[in-house]
Amino acid sequence: MEKETIIQAIHNYARETGQRLNPKAVLFDMDGVLYDSMRHHARSWMEISARHHLLAEEKDFYLWEGQTGAGTINALMQRTFHRDATEAEKQDIYAEKAALFTRYNDGSPMPGAADVLREVCASGLQRVIVTGSGQRSLLDKLEHSFPGCFSTDRMVMAFDVKIGKPHPEPYLMGLQKAGVQANEAIVVENAPMGVHAGVAAGIFTIAVNTGPLADADLQNEGAHLLFPSMDALAHSFPLLMDAVHFT
Ligand code: MG
Repeated sequence: MEKETIIQAIHNYARETGQRLNPKAVLFDMDGVLYDSMRHHARSWMEISARHHLLAEEKDFYLWEGQTGAGTINALMQRTFHRDATEAEKQDIYAEKAALFTRYNDGSPMPGAADVLREVCASGLQRVIVTGSGQRSLLDKLEHSFPGCFSTDRMVMAFDVKIGKPHPEPYLMGLQKAGVQANEAIVVENAPMGVHAGVAAGIFTIAVNTGPLADADLQNEGAHLLFPSMDALAHSFPLLMDAVHFT
């Protein structure tokens, strides 16, 4: 990516928010950003949808990524049976989906994610996780994949939030955990609802298109920059930090 494009994005952010970007922390989404796990989520949802005769296609789960499991189940019920899911359905179907995901998930990190983290650490920025995931053993997994990068006091997970993405709540909590203001953070997201949440929280939001959606699906939610992969973001990260000091 050209440095000019990055400088323009920083100017656009300043115009939008009236704030100067001065990054001290990077707030990372997890699925589809740090882990190559979205295909396992989509596969699990597709199988569960078939089992419950719910109308679904794979792309739905990329478009709806980031919202709660209950929200996804309700959307499928509405589309198929034109009614809301009951609380029992939400719980049972989500439990079945989570069990399948656990079986399929191989824990592969996203290619380039370790390189992005190396750049972020080298720039002296804090790392915070902001995920809709409720996996209990998450920190162990993160420590194994990205040693020394994350800590439990800098994680926002499913059970921390009331509303969830696309509402800004999870990212506002992430700012709190890092002890920084909105203009002192950068969000890295792969999902339209996650980009929406980051932008709504007033944070400079980088979209990484690691899935099957069109770039426009992410740009239309207000992403300030878009990269085709975590590798590409890692490559341009030093330019971004330069540009911050230049603008
Ligand atoms: Mg994601």
